[in-house]
Amino acid sequence: MKFIPHGAAQEVTGSCHEIQVETPGGVRRILLDCGLFQGRRAESAQKNAAFTFDPKQDIDAVVLTHAHMDHVGRIPVLFKRGYVGPVFCTFATKDLAEVMLQDGGYIQEKDEEYFRKHITRSRLPTEGPLYTQEDAKSCLVLFRGENMNEWFPVCDNVRAQFIEAGHIVGAVMIVLEVTESGRKRLVGFSGDLGRNLLPIIRDPAPMPPVETLICESTYGNRMHEDIDTARHALRDAITRTAQRGGKVFIPAFSLERAQEILFDLHLLWDQKEIPALPVIVDSPLTAKVTEVFMKHPECYDKEIYEKFLAKAKNPFQFSLVRFTETPEESKALNATPGPMVILAGSGMCEAGRIRHHLKNGIEDARNAVVAVGYMAVNTLGRRLVDPTITQVKIFDQMLTKKAEVTSIAAYSGHADRADLDRFVLATEQVQHLILVHGEIEQMDPFAQRLVKTRPGLVIHKPEREEVVELVA
Ligand SMILES: [Zn+2]
Ligand SMILES: [Zn+2]
Repeated sequence: MKFIPHGAAQEVTGSCHEIQVETPGGVRRILLDCGLFQGRRAESAQKNAAFTFDPKQDIDAVVLTHAHMDHVGRIPVLFKRGYVGPVFCTFATKDLAEVMLQDGGYIQEKDEEYFRKHITRSRLPTEGPLYTQEDAKSCLVLFRGENMNEWFPVCDNVRAQFIEAGHIVGAVMIVLEVTESGRKRLVGFSGDLGRNLLPIIRDPAPMPPVETLICESTYGNRMHEDIDTARHALRDAITRTAQRGGKVFIPAFSLERAQEILFDLHLLWDQKEIPALPVIVDSPLTAKVTEVFMKHPECYDKEIYEKFLAKAKNPFQFSLVRFTETPEESKALNATPGPMVILAGSGMCEAGRIRHHLKNGIEDARNAVVAVGYMAVNTLGRRLVDPTITQVKIFDQMLTKKAEVTSIAAYSGHADRADLDRFVLATEQVQHLILVHGEIEQMDPFAQRLVKTRPGLVIHKPEREEVVELVA
């Protein structure tokens, strides 16, 4: 059996891992995830457009962990290049992927338009958009929903089971049972490993006794603050800003983080811990994703189910919340005085309506920007949270950061250093560990700690396209 990472190898984005299995009928090739590379525009465009295999001839099946774009975002490309096999995922991931991919197609089309206008043809990284909204829609015929905790056949000699990842709604870890030369072996893939006690969703399940474990390592060397501190920090930022009569801008990641924020605001409002002020969700994508969330009660933890869903109460909707519908409504918010909370995309402030709100409000000291997610380097979001930067450029205008900026890192949906150690060490049968989905600075200390505790463990940190022979 072989493992080949086609992305998320010593980096975080572009998750796509191949498992090759020898069977009497020939080699079978399975992809675990097929996600987008994100980051510097030209470099990611190039990586996203190229596959080192022929999707039409070479791939037998795709199995997905969850609907974040760095895990599903290249399925339409795979389909465009002729892949017609199954794409297995949970039912929630299937519905979320539909919304996310549609939005992805829209962004690709808009990007292409922009580049055609501003950049000479010879410098365009690709021919036409990576995929269109139409491609995103067409590829959905490949998706096949499967229940969690049940085996399903993937291809010859391989079956799979989904187990809870505790990361976002519908997110799972994958267990593969592979039969090679008459011998059965278990291979586990963490996908994005979540954390205990995250709002909305269940805690991650333990990994079954797999011999080979492919594990993410985003925060292999970082600890998170307690999740409760996140809600308190959010409450304090809102209260301070409301007292000044200002607006709180929350750059929202539409899938999961936005709903977590709405849920926390709901709890805070129920306990009268925040003042009565309008909470505006100014993001059509967030509205669509939130609708999908309501269709999947099977994904929630007991608390949210009993307190809300069982009583037909919407956890993400309460008396203060309003979803904007038209661009005009969004623009009208500029002239509306605070206090208010505005959630708008995109999460890293690289696109979407948040940029308009920031352009209008960043120079007003009464206002606040509350960052609730990871801000990658070279994004407006990172420049906003960087205290050494006093001016930011938004729509070609240099503006002075006068609004308060708060960063609440405790909202992370990824396991931290201690969670990762516990997760791997609890899987006692693991003989071969392959680290993916992390920068090398995060992987190295993680691997060093594990080797100390478990000296016999074989650990790989493969580069992209490196072929790893599974030793277990
Ligand atoms: Zn994720
Ligand atoms: Zn990821």
